[in-house]
Amino acid sequence: MVIVLKKSITDVEKNSLITFLKDKGYKIKEIHGQEETVLGAVGLGSLDKVEVEMRPGVSKVFPISKPYKFASREFKAQDTVFDVGPITIGGDRIISVAGPCAIESREQIFTIAELLKKSGAVILRGGAFKPRTSPYSFQGLGEEGLVYLREAGDAFGMPVMTEIVSTNDVALFDKYVDIVQIGARNMQNFELLKAVGSLGKPVLLKRGISATIQEWLMAAEYLIASGTDKIILCERGIRTYETETRNTLDLSAIPVLKRLTHLPVFVDPSHGTGRRDSVMPMTLAAVSGGAHGVVVEVHHEPENAMSDGPQSLYPEQFEKLMRDIEVLAPVVRKEVARLSTSFTEIPKVSAERTSDLVQVAFQGESGAYSEVALYRTFDKAKYVSMPCKGFKDVFDAVLSGTAEYGILPVENSLAGSVHSNYDLIIQYPDVHITAENSIRIEHSLIGSQDSSIDKIKKVYSHPQALSQSSKFLETLGDVELIPYSDTSGSVKFISQKNDPSLAAIAGEHSAVLWNMKVLKINIENNPRNYTRFVVIQRGVPKVEADTTKASLVFAVDDQPGALLEALNVFKQYDFNMKKLESRPIAGSPWQYMFYADIDIAGKTTTVDGFLQDLANKTADLRLLGCYKSKN
Ligand code: PEP
Ligand code: MN
Repeated sequence: MVIVLKKSITDVEKNSLITFLKDKGYKIKEIHGQEETVLGAVGLGSLDKVEVEMRPGVSKVFPISKPYKFASREFKAQDTVFDVGPITIGGDRIISVAGPCAIESREQIFTIAELLKKSGAVILRGGAFKPRTSPYSFQGLGEEGLVYLREAGDAFGMPVMTEIVSTNDVALFDKYVDIVQIGARNMQNFELLKAVGSLGKPVLLKRGISATIQEWLMAAEYLIASGTDKIILCERGIRTYETETRNTLDLSAIPVLKRLTHLPVFVDPSHGTGRRDSVMPMTLAAVSGGAHGVVVEVHHEPENAMSDGPQSLYPEQFEKLMRDIEVLAPVVRKEVARLSTSFTEIPKVSAERTSDLVQVAFQGESGAYSEVALYRTFDKAKYVSMPCKGFKDVFDAVLSGTAEYGILPVENSLAGSVHSNYDLIIQYPDVHITAENSIRIEHSLIGSQDSSIDKIKKVYSHPQALSQSSKFLETLGDVELIPYSDTSGSVKFISQKNDPSLAAIAGEHSAVLWNMKVLKINIENNPRNYTRFVVIQRGVPKVEADTTKASLVFAVDDQPGALLEALNVFKQYDFNMKKLESRPIAGSPWQYMFYADIDIAGKTTTVDGFLQDLANKTADLRLLGCYKSKN
């Protein structure tokens, strides 16, 4: 049963309630939500709900209808999110687990780990104890394999995951492994589930070869009841009558699981299909379908692999797959998890701080698209957003050290550049660009709880949002469109008016934030609506070996051929120009400066020479930033 506690409950009342329930044979879990605290009580006891409801400090009691109790959404409405080393699982980051089917040698796992790290995988997998169908097949290196996996994980800074097959090995896995995998063949090995659950470590629980979703969730319940809440459910294909594929990958399990449970869902398309040529499309399908992560087998020489060679991707294929996932991620409102972004390595510099979290400034009210971009770029666990009134305030916050970073929109795929931010960056020579990120912009029409589309007379929003939703707004007929300084702020504004004839346009999340209702979702004219944001930081740009893009601004003398001469320097150094835009120079009418983005990937050693030569051909030059680009 789920026991909702009153806000006024005292510690004494709560402890006495817990003791009472435990005495009656219940296992108890406590969840602190934003609104309320609940206790989950599960067990063989047969208490009457009224008996619990009558106790002091109890607000409501309701039964959990499903046989899996702690694993159900009824018990816990919010998604389960947990950390494995530097990686957060279950949030809006897509996790890539990759590695060979089996660890074959120290050299093999090191070779593969290095390649995977370069392509952006965040967790290293590899079997040391292989549950093979034939007793004559390679059974894995055992403990030796665990040692090599651990060493490779440590060498490349990747958490490691591997499969356990026997309760005898629990202590070994505790020593070497970050995520314990329970394989399909052992999903209902209840003794193993109990032993692994009692470790309290993160577990990846594969779906049994012919398990129903309910049986699978009951297996997860075993793990929770034994002591771990950190469980990933992994769909890996089920046995059907089809023989063209190794298994039938049940991607429809993803939305079903998301409805039934709060646990994160991964998909393993390698075992799900058994064929290398099916793995890439099915991985993308899993990401599109809402999977929190994917598990993919990769081998540097699949022809010589000791197991599962035909389904193992070549490293180049995996690299391409990661790039494709990167493109897909913003479409499904997610970001690809990364082991290191430039952000995590930079020391804190500011003194004023409200908490241990690093402050990142953005323009607008809470819920603004800039804040969405901020949390796609910066991990919520370590960074906190700092709302600022104007773009200039973002720069000032970064310059003064009140915020470590700022995030600013610079370009929209439909509306073009945000000129004011380009102009501001010129005015702040001690601030530079350290990263960029693009997010998909989806607008919703938002009104009060008692509103509906036919009641709307006035629509407020940022002019960009109004114009990007013009086609939908025309269908509303005679409504007044009122420009407002920012999107989320317009929702806040109408929320205070309490008038069902007012609406605002903003992201869906703004409705939740200001307790308003989404009247219509996705009203933007064009679904391919992306905004590019840059991250700014105090200090001067550094050209690191792995930076791929540079942004610069230059001005040329007012004479024939001056621009051509400057552009020739780009050509000489073979730097591909990704963007070139001219802007008026403030205070000098009819004179212009040029903003350029260039691709410097693999050529970072020549950037200094390039800048010197360009300086000789220009009247003014400033490097605005060097960073790792995604575009
Ligand atoms: C594996 O991941 O290597 C494996 C054996 O998977 P499954 O249990 O899904 O067959
Ligand atoms: Mn395998």
